[in-house]
Amino acid sequence: MSWGFYKPYVSRAARLAKASKSAAKLQKIGQKLDPVVIEGRSIAKTFWGKAWCQNLEAYSDYENRLPRGRSYARNGSVIDLKIETGSVAALVQGSSLYKVSVTINPLASGRWKTFVDAATGQVTNLLDLLQGRLSKELLEFLTSKQTGLFPSPKEIRLSCSCPDWADMCKHVAAVLYGVGARLDSKPELFFTLRGVDMQDLLAAAGRSAVLPVGAPTEIEDGDLSSIFGVEIESVATVPTAPENTAPIRKKGRSSPSAKTTDKSAGNKKTKAAKKVPVRKAIKKAGKASIQKRNA
Ligand SMILES: [Zn+2]
Repeated sequence: MSWGFYKPYVSRAARLAKASKSAAKLQKIGQKLDPVVIEGRSIAKTFWGKAWCQNLEAYSDYENRLPRGRSYARNGSVIDLKIETGSVAALVQGSSLYKVSVTINPLASGRWKTFVDAATGQVTNLLDLLQGRLSKELLEFLTSKQTGLFPSPKEIRLSCSCPDWADMCKHVAAVLYGVGARLDSKPELFFTLRGVDMQDLLAAAGRSAVLPVGAPTEIEDGDLSSIFGVEIESVATVPTAPENTAPIRKKGRSSPSAKTTDKSAGNKKTKAAKKVPVRKAIKKAGKASIQKRNA
């Protein structure tokens, strides 16, 4: 803490002018920047982005300190944000330009295997997975603090180069929200960040193979709120990809043409999805031991 510290007030406009100056300077020397661009009021609008933000806000360690980063994230102060395996590196414009780094433990392999088992037969293509079009049970499973894929504060280490760095300054908070915004356009980066391979889920689908695809249930805001136990900003519909969305990089089997049909598919809520015994898997997960199939 540095309460005695004199910090000149920098207006939002001045800070943003500085941000574009800093960005121009870095680009001039050849640095490729990936700024966080948020349109509209919500930081994240799609499943993975919202779930990321909701997960962080669900921890009391963070809930009071995160909000200070919201406006920074929204108004373009995060001029660069890169997600790699187990880490996020970012540049945030405050009164100066600060370097933020977030390190996240890789997802425990047992937890990932349990999820892969629970998802067997349910995740049949990566597009559904990346759009969060999964059964409600599976969504609950993957967002649960006990069985889910999102990191807890214990697994996250934060740092910032600013002088008033305490546990979480607004620059770090802005970056954490920035990750949520980035997952809106590139949800596959969630799996990169957690150090797991999405393809494992398709491999599992191939192993069971007999269940029909069925249209997965879209998660509603209300559902997400109940899963995380907090209110989330209401979004009328889960939108399809925002305008500036980079194409989803798909490895292997998923067909790129599937993308063109996702809007209509995403808006349909068919009840025909065949239930796979997720509850069973959840129970199984409760007993820390994981039985490997055909090991
Ligand atoms: Zn800071």
